[in-house]
Amino acid sequence: MNSPALQALFGGTFDPIHYGHLRPVEALARQIGLQQVTLLPNNVPPHKPQPEASAAQRVAMIEQAIADRPLFNIDLRELQRQTPSYTVETLRGLRAERGPQQPVGFIIGQDSLLTLHHWHQWQELLELCHLLVCKRPGYPAEMANEEMQNWLDRHVCRDTARFHQQPHGLIYLADTPMINISATEIRQRYLQKQSCSDLLPDAVIDYISHAGLYRG
Ligand code: ATP
Repeated sequence: MNSPALQALFGGTFDPIHYGHLRPVEALARQIGLQQVTLLPNNVPPHKPQPEASAAQRVAMIEQAIADRPLFNIDLRELQRQTPSYTVETLRGLRAERGPQQPVGFIIGQDSLLTLHHWHQWQELLELCHLLVCKRPGYPAEMANEEMQNWLDRHVCRDTARFHQQPHGLIYLADTPMINISATEIRQRYLQKQSCSDLLPDAVIDYISHAGLYRG
Protein backbone atom coordinates (compact mmCIF):
# COMPACT_ATOMS: atom_id res chain seq x y z
CA MET A 1 0.00 0.00 0.00
CA ASN A 2 1.28 3.52 -0.79
CA SER A 3 1.90 5.66 2.26
CA PRO A 4 -0.59 8.52 2.60
CA ALA A 5 0.66 11.87 1.22
CA LEU A 6 2.17 14.36 3.61
CA GLN A 7 -0.57 16.67 4.86
CA ALA A 8 0.55 20.16 5.81
CA LEU A 9 -1.01 22.70 8.15
CA PHE A 10 -0.11 26.35 8.54
CA GLY A 11 -1.38 28.11 11.66
CA GLY A 12 -1.45 31.85 12.23
CA THR A 13 -3.44 34.88 13.20
CA PHE A 14 -3.62 36.09 9.59
CA ASP A 15 -4.55 39.66 10.63
CA PRO A 16 -4.32 40.03 7.63
CA ILE A 17 -2.98 37.18 5.46
CA HIS A 18 -0.13 38.51 3.25
CA TYR A 19 2.55 37.50 0.73
CA GLY A 20 4.97 36.72 3.59
CA HIS A 21 2.61 33.86 4.41
CA LEU A 22 1.75 32.76 0.88
CA ARG A 23 5.00 32.94 -1.11
CA PRO A 24 7.39 31.08 1.22
CA VAL A 25 4.78 28.34 1.68
CA GLU A 26 4.30 28.01 -2.09
CA ALA A 27 8.07 27.57 -2.45
CA LEU A 28 8.16 25.08 0.42
CA ALA A 29 5.33 23.11 -1.22
CA ARG A 30 7.35 22.80 -4.45
CA GLN A 31 10.50 21.73 -2.57
CA ILE A 32 9.00 19.05 -0.37
CA GLY A 33 6.09 18.05 -2.62
CA LEU A 34 2.90 19.23 -0.94
CA GLN A 35 -0.38 18.93 -2.81
CA GLN A 36 -2.40 20.83 -0.24
CA VAL A 37 -1.68 23.25 2.59
CA THR A 38 -4.41 23.81 5.17
CA LEU A 39 -4.51 27.25 6.75
CA LEU A 40 -5.54 27.21 10.40
CA PRO A 41 -6.58 30.67 11.63
CA ASN A 42 -6.20 30.73 15.40
CA ASN A 43 -8.02 31.97 18.45
CA VAL A 44 -5.78 34.37 20.32
CA PRO A 45 -5.40 33.91 24.10
CA PRO A 46 -6.94 36.76 26.12
CA HIS A 47 -3.55 37.87 27.56
CA LYS A 48 -2.09 38.45 24.07
CA PRO A 49 -2.84 41.45 21.84
CA GLN A 50 -6.17 40.70 20.19
CA PRO A 51 -6.45 40.71 16.39
CA GLU A 52 -7.88 43.92 14.98
CA ALA A 53 -10.03 42.04 12.49
CA SER A 54 -12.76 39.75 13.80
CA ALA A 55 -12.45 36.00 13.29
CA ALA A 56 -15.05 36.20 10.50
CA GLN A 57 -13.09 38.99 8.80
CA ARG A 58 -9.80 37.09 9.08
CA VAL A 59 -11.48 34.06 7.51
CA ALA A 60 -13.01 36.19 4.75
CA MET A 61 -9.58 37.63 3.93
CA ILE A 62 -8.07 34.14 3.77
CA GLU A 63 -10.89 33.04 1.46
CA GLN A 64 -10.19 36.00 -0.83
CA ALA A 65 -6.46 35.24 -0.84
CA ILE A 66 -6.80 31.54 -1.66
CA ALA A 67 -9.68 31.74 -4.16
CA ASP A 68 -7.20 31.47 -7.06
CA ARG A 69 -4.55 29.47 -5.19
CA PRO A 70 -5.64 25.82 -5.26
CA LEU A 71 -2.68 24.77 -3.09
CA PHE A 72 -4.48 26.20 -0.07
CA ASN A 73 -7.62 25.37 1.84
CA ILE A 74 -8.85 26.46 5.26
CA ASP A 75 -9.77 24.63 8.46
CA LEU A 76 -11.85 26.50 11.03
CA ARG A 77 -11.45 24.13 13.96
CA GLU A 78 -9.39 26.49 16.12
CA LEU A 79 -11.94 29.29 15.69
CA GLN A 80 -14.82 26.96 16.48
CA ARG A 81 -13.35 26.17 19.90
CA GLN A 82 -14.05 28.73 22.60
CA THR A 83 -10.59 28.30 24.15
CA PRO A 84 -7.20 29.73 23.07
CA SER A 85 -5.46 27.78 20.33
CA TYR A 86 -2.67 25.48 21.41
CA THR A 87 -1.05 23.86 18.41
CA VAL A 88 -0.33 20.70 20.36
CA GLU A 89 -4.04 20.22 21.11
CA THR A 90 -5.07 20.88 17.53
CA LEU A 91 -2.52 18.33 16.36
CA ARG A 92 -3.78 15.74 18.85
CA GLY A 93 -7.26 16.20 17.42
CA LEU A 94 -6.01 15.77 13.87
CA ARG A 95 -3.99 12.70 14.81
CA ALA A 96 -7.06 11.13 16.38
CA GLU A 97 -8.96 11.71 13.13
CA ARG A 98 -6.29 10.71 10.66
CA GLY A 99 -4.60 7.86 12.48
CA PRO A 100 -1.02 7.26 13.63
CA GLN A 101 0.49 6.57 10.19
CA GLN A 102 -0.59 9.72 8.38
CA PRO A 103 2.43 11.98 7.76
CA VAL A 104 1.56 15.46 9.05
CA GLY A 105 3.68 18.60 8.64
CA PHE A 106 3.16 21.81 10.60
CA ILE A 107 4.55 24.88 8.83
CA ILE A 108 6.13 27.74 10.77
CA GLY A 109 8.37 30.72 10.02
CA GLN A 110 11.90 31.01 11.38
CA ASP A 111 10.70 33.48 14.04
CA SER A 112 8.33 30.84 15.41
CA LEU A 113 11.06 28.18 15.40
CA LEU A 114 13.25 30.46 17.55
CA THR A 115 10.52 30.82 20.19
CA LEU A 116 9.17 27.28 19.97
CA HIS A 117 10.40 26.43 23.49
CA HIS A 118 7.76 28.89 24.80
CA TRP A 119 4.91 27.03 23.12
CA HIS A 120 2.54 24.98 25.27
CA GLN A 121 3.94 21.41 25.62
CA TRP A 122 6.35 22.05 22.76
CA GLN A 123 8.33 18.85 23.42
CA GLU A 124 5.35 16.83 22.22
CA LEU A 125 5.02 18.57 18.88
CA LEU A 126 7.45 16.25 17.10
CA GLU A 127 5.55 13.24 18.43
CA LEU A 128 2.57 14.53 16.48
CA CYS A 129 4.01 16.17 13.35
CA HIS A 130 7.03 17.17 11.33
CA LEU A 131 7.99 20.83 11.48
CA LEU A 132 8.44 22.53 8.11
CA VAL A 133 10.28 25.83 8.59
CA CYS A 134 10.27 28.79 6.18
CA LYS A 135 12.99 31.43 6.27
CA ARG A 136 12.07 34.88 7.51
CA PRO A 137 14.29 37.96 7.16
CA GLY A 138 15.59 39.45 10.37
CA TYR A 139 15.73 36.19 12.33
CA PRO A 140 19.00 34.32 12.90
CA ALA A 141 19.53 30.73 11.78
CA GLU A 142 20.88 29.75 15.22
CA MET A 143 18.59 28.71 18.05
CA ALA A 144 18.32 30.72 21.28
CA ASN A 145 20.53 28.40 23.35
CA GLU A 146 22.68 25.30 23.12
CA GLU A 147 19.99 22.95 24.34
CA MET A 148 17.55 24.09 21.64
CA GLN A 149 20.30 24.00 19.00
CA ASN A 150 21.09 20.38 19.95
CA TRP A 151 17.40 19.54 19.79
CA LEU A 152 17.17 21.09 16.31
CA ASP A 153 20.32 19.35 15.06
CA ARG A 154 18.99 15.97 16.23
CA HIS A 155 15.80 16.31 14.21
CA VAL A 156 16.79 18.20 11.08
CA CYS A 157 16.44 16.13 7.91
CA ARG A 158 17.29 17.11 4.33
CA ASP A 159 15.85 13.99 2.67
CA THR A 160 12.40 15.18 1.57
CA ALA A 161 11.18 11.63 0.86
CA ARG A 162 11.33 10.77 4.56
CA PHE A 163 8.73 13.43 5.37
CA HIS A 164 6.27 11.47 3.23
CA GLN A 165 7.18 8.09 4.70
CA GLN A 166 7.46 8.84 8.40
CA PRO A 167 4.37 10.17 10.24
CA HIS A 168 6.19 12.71 12.48
CA GLY A 169 9.47 13.58 14.19
CA LEU A 170 11.54 15.47 11.57
CA ILE A 171 12.36 19.11 10.91
CA TYR A 172 12.76 20.51 7.40
CA LEU A 173 14.61 23.83 7.04
CA ALA A 174 13.28 24.95 3.67
CA ASP A 175 15.19 27.20 1.31
CA THR A 176 12.36 29.67 0.82
CA PRO A 177 12.45 33.26 -0.46
CA MET A 178 12.99 35.93 2.17
CA ILE A 179 9.82 38.03 2.14
CA ASN A 180 10.14 40.99 4.46
CA ILE A 181 6.45 41.49 5.31
CA SER A 182 4.59 41.25 8.60
CA ALA A 183 0.93 41.75 9.42
CA THR A 184 2.01 44.32 12.02
CA GLU A 185 3.70 46.40 9.33
CA ILE A 186 0.62 46.16 7.09
CA ARG A 187 -1.68 47.33 9.91
CA GLN A 188 0.67 50.26 10.61
CA ARG A 189 0.77 51.22 6.94
CA TYR A 190 -3.04 51.26 6.80
CA LEU A 191 -3.12 53.45 9.88
CA GLN A 192 -0.72 55.87 8.20
CA LYS A 193 -2.72 55.68 4.95
CA GLN A 194 0.26 54.26 3.04
CA SER A 195 -0.02 51.87 0.09
CA CYS A 196 0.12 48.13 0.74
CA SER A 197 -0.20 47.11 -2.91
CA ASP A 198 2.81 44.78 -3.09
CA LEU A 199 2.34 43.26 0.34
CA LEU A 200 -0.88 41.27 -0.02
CA PRO A 201 -3.23 40.05 -2.77
CA ASP A 202 -5.47 42.64 -4.48
CA ALA A 203 -8.61 40.77 -3.43
CA VAL A 204 -7.56 41.10 0.24
CA ILE A 205 -6.78 44.80 -0.26
CA ASP A 206 -10.29 45.27 -1.72
CA TYR A 207 -11.84 43.43 1.22
CA ILE A 208 -9.93 45.57 3.76
CA SER A 209 -11.01 48.74 2.02
CA HIS A 210 -14.72 47.74 1.80
CA ALA A 211 -14.76 46.56 5.43
CA GLY A 212 -12.93 49.70 6.60
CA LEU A 213 -10.37 47.62 8.47
CA TYR A 214 -7.15 48.82 10.13
CA ARG A 215 -8.10 52.51 10.09
CA GLY A 216 -7.58 52.87 13.84
P1 ATP B 1 2.05 39.79 13.26
O1 ATP B 1 2.93 40.81 12.58
O2 ATP B 1 0.65 40.30 13.55
O3 ATP B 1 2.71 39.14 14.46
P2 ATP B 1 2.70 37.83 11.22
O4 ATP B 1 2.82 38.59 9.94
O5 ATP B 1 3.97 37.43 11.91
O6 ATP B 1 1.76 38.64 12.21
P3 ATP B 1 1.17 35.42 11.83
O7 ATP B 1 -0.21 35.22 11.36
O8 ATP B 1 1.35 35.72 13.27
O9 ATP B 1 1.82 36.58 10.88
O10 ATP B 1 2.13 34.26 11.42
C1 ATP B 1 1.73 32.96 11.12
C2 ATP B 1 2.94 32.15 10.71
O11 ATP B 1 3.49 32.74 9.54
C3 ATP B 1 4.06 32.10 11.74
O12 ATP B 1 4.60 30.78 11.77
C4 ATP B 1 5.10 33.06 11.19
O13 ATP B 1 6.40 32.66 11.55
C5 ATP B 1 4.89 32.92 9.68
N1 ATP B 1 5.23 34.13 8.95
C6 ATP B 1 4.60 35.33 9.01
N2 ATP B 1 5.19 36.22 8.19
C7 ATP B 1 6.22 35.58 7.60
C8 ATP B 1 7.23 35.97 6.63
N3 ATP B 1 7.29 37.21 6.15
N4 ATP B 1 8.13 35.03 6.23
C9 ATP B 1 8.07 33.76 6.73
N5 ATP B 1 7.15 33.33 7.64
C10 ATP B 1 6.24 34.22 8.07
